[in-house]
Amino acid sequence: HPAFDVQAVRRDFPILQERVNGRQLIWLDNAATTHKPQAVIDRLAYFYQHENSNIHRAAHELAARATDAYEGARSKVARFLGASSTEEIIFVRGATEGINLIAKTWGWQNVGEGDEIIVSNLEHHANIVPWQQLAAAKGAKLKVIPVDDTGQVLLDEYRKLLTSRTKIVSVTQVSNALGTVVPVKEIVAMAHQAGALAVVDGAQSVSHMRVNVQEIDADFFVFSGHKVFAPTGIGAVYGKRAILEDMPPWQGGGNMIADVTFEKTIYHGPPTRFEAGTGNIADAVGLGAAIDYVERLGMENIARYEHDLLVYTTRGLLTVPGLKLIGTAREKASVSSFVLDGYRPDEVGKALNEEGIAVRSGHHCAQPILRRFGQEATVRPSLAFYNTCEEIDTLVAVLHRLARGKGRIGR
Ligand code: PMP
Repeated sequence: HPAFDVQAVRRDFPILQERVNGRQLIWLDNAATTHKPQAVIDRLAYFYQHENSNIHRAAHELAARATDAYEGARSKVARFLGASSTEEIIFVRGATEGINLIAKTWGWQNVGEGDEIIVSNLEHHANIVPWQQLAAAKGAKLKVIPVDDTGQVLLDEYRKLLTSRTKIVSVTQVSNALGTVVPVKEIVAMAHQAGALAVVDGAQSVSHMRVNVQEIDADFFVFSGHKVFAPTGIGAVYGKRAILEDMPPWQGGGNMIADVTFEKTIYHGPPTRFEAGTGNIADAVGLGAAIDYVERLGMENIARYEHDLLVYTTRGLLTVPGLKLIGTAREKASVSSFVLDGYRPDEVGKALNEEGIAVRSGHHCAQPILRRFGQEATVRPSLAFYNTCEEIDTLVAVLHRLARGKGRIGR
């Protein structure tokens, strides 16, 4: 890959030098969380060393620096997502809090008895439970877009689910359990034709492909910073300006008001209206640095490199006797999900950990889609741009060893 110097990239991530059980760490748990480049770690330290202050409230030098850094990060997120203005970006804790914010504001205001909410069979629990809570509270119905045997959503079945009662459709752009890349642009367009709004869960997409919310035409888009090389505890909701304008606040408190008396509170406009209290200022700044970092590498370069690495991974995994891949959609990103004859997924995970290889084994907070494939758990290696073919070779070699000693390890 001439356009992508993976060894140079790896030097930006100090934790990749870590040793685990006597081996150099092989991090293949990127769908759970990603590591942080030195540039992000340095930016956090710089914030606390030179800029730390609460924002908006006080007119002094450090408050101005902190406010500039925080609002600068908001601009970076807006540009990263292709939003038309910074006022469309709300900082939240992550994708989970983002979806809850949408369900508990727009949802509570607009979904009533007999209305319908649509999600896909692929969703993470974070994109199921808030809608289930809303449906239960309002007497609405939750409908599910089924998937085919490769783990791709069935658009024709989706079309049949849409009715005049459909208020909101919420789908993931990339499945965290199978890696399926979902045709969100089509899903959003069909939702709009039916008069519904559409939410896209970008938790697993923004680190692997270029995203443009205006191109997708999503009404809302959410993601978590920690899955895109930024700190934990920070993420963002994108919402179309006109929709945010009409939305009631979720939490009440300081920072989000224009005027308060004991009789009445006048709220700020978006995004401030949705950011009650002191936010995660430093980590938002860290998110801005992470976005600078991936944009320097180039999302197109990242996507191309990872695509080839995923093809290489799939090919390698399929050489292992008794290994069954779950989720074989034509378009996938980052994630492989598999089971291995003679072993429980947690036994495979443990055996890999003994070799310094970190993967997730379990239900990946997406039980409905695993059950669709008759599984309660899988082993899930997930890639980022700092992974290499050599690391995949090591993974595959250990799996071959396990396959040869069928069922003996860990029992
Ligand atoms: N949606 C998807 C598709 C995810 O993969 C995740 C994280 N595994 C989430 C939502 C929730 O993200 P967080 O836990 O960072 O809020």
